[in-house]
Amino acid sequence: MMRYEPIFWMNDHYKGVEVANKVSQFGKEDIRDAEARLERFAPYFAENFESTRANNGIIESDITKIPNFKDFLEKEYKVSIPGQMYLKRDDTLPIAGTIKARGAIYEVLKHAETLALEAGILSGYEDDYRKFGSQEFKDFFSQYKVMVGTTGNLGISVGLMGVSLGFEVIIHMSYDAKEWKKKYLRDHGVVVIEHKTNFTEAVNQGRAESDADPKSYFVDDEHSVDLFLGYTVGPCRLKKQLEEEKILVDEDHPLFVFSPCGIGGSPGGTAFGLKQIYGDNVHCFFAQPTHMPSMLVGLVTEKYSKVSVADIEVDAKTNMDGLAVPRTSGFVAELMHNYFNGGITISEEDQKLLLTKMIDLEDIHLEPAALAGTIGPAMLFDTEEGRAYMKAYGLEDKMENATYLAWATGGSMVPKEDMEAFYQQGK
Ligand SMILES: *Cc1c(COP(=O)(O)O)cnc(C)c1O
Repeated sequence: MMRYEPIFWMNDHYKGVEVANKVSQFGKEDIRDAEARLERFAPYFAENFESTRANNGIIESDITKIPNFKDFLEKEYKVSIPGQMYLKRDDTLPIAGTIKARGAIYEVLKHAETLALEAGILSGYEDDYRKFGSQEFKDFFSQYKVMVGTTGNLGISVGLMGVSLGFEVIIHMSYDAKEWKKKYLRDHGVVVIEHKTNFTEAVNQGRAESDADPKSYFVDDEHSVDLFLGYTVGPCRLKKQLEEEKILVDEDHPLFVFSPCGIGGSPGGTAFGLKQIYGDNVHCFFAQPTHMPSMLVGLVTEKYSKVSVADIEVDAKTNMDGLAVPRTSGFVAELMHNYFNGGITISEEDQKLLLTKMIDLEDIHLEPAALAGTIGPAMLFDTEEGRAYMKAYGLEDKMENATYLAWATGGSMVPKEDMEAFYQQGK
């Protein structure tokens, strides 16, 4: 890590899903509860957000097969990659266009539901949730604030959802947040406070301000259980999509999932959900920049959130702004130490190249962070550790049947000029 070299890391702490579930504070019933909540709100979304109507108010993305990109990986990294490769298209998620829409929207909804139930304006879970779009509800929520500290994307999801429901939304942004994200939020009625500090500091300041105000609710990227649980629902829906594509996942047909990792909530929640469905037949890896291996250093040292990349003299400078988190979430890292199969790191150069190739070869426009996992299949075959992994799990003669899924976590919100600049970097 200190030499900024790309790493394939196998998590020796993983002892199978059954063992992990025995000590986990979360279970299948938590995922079902989150899923049911999103279903209750579906009529509200279908009525108020056109982009969700085709899917009956459920916020979901497709999967796309990317054979040309896979061919490129094989040529560029001089490996043969048996099996097929897909992208999970969270870059196209309705409303907020990044994976944050899963966790953040879920958390804001849960908070709104709780307030409405307490106030008695919502009579119970069977009530008509389309009420959340009414003027009465907006007036009610306008007396409350929602705050968040973020590098950008979490703010977009929390901001758009919060403002739509009527909340006053205040967003604390770190210095590395992109200009267009601040402007976009302000244009949508969100208050943006700019900090000269990094992500961890912006979060701390936002949390302190929110805690001092009894009518304010803080969406806490580091500690939020609801954010985490919101992310766990995606895999239930992915299961149906894989079935529709006739992709089998079982002992002889392994599924590899590579998820970009910042603080850890989204790759953690995703992997947790996947493991509850596919058990040990899904292999879950988080993916981080070589300049920001916060989850990796947290797990390797078993210090979790008590170690930052600065402690190993890594400079924390990355183009992948959605992953610009120098210190991981303690509760996610400790929990996921039992569930992640491993992690990979990707260099800035590889990310830039792969962003451009994804556009040239598949016509898919992803933001930098969303490329982090796409190098995964190449790392598996190109590194000694990756080959040792397949051997350790007895997968060597099963890889012909393998499916690789890189979670594409964002892209559709990026303005054209910014995307063009990213494209030119890779060129
Ligand atoms: C936030 C983000 C991630 C990582 O999610 P964490 O919960 O921070 O680990 C990945 N990709 C994009 C585009 C993001 O915005």
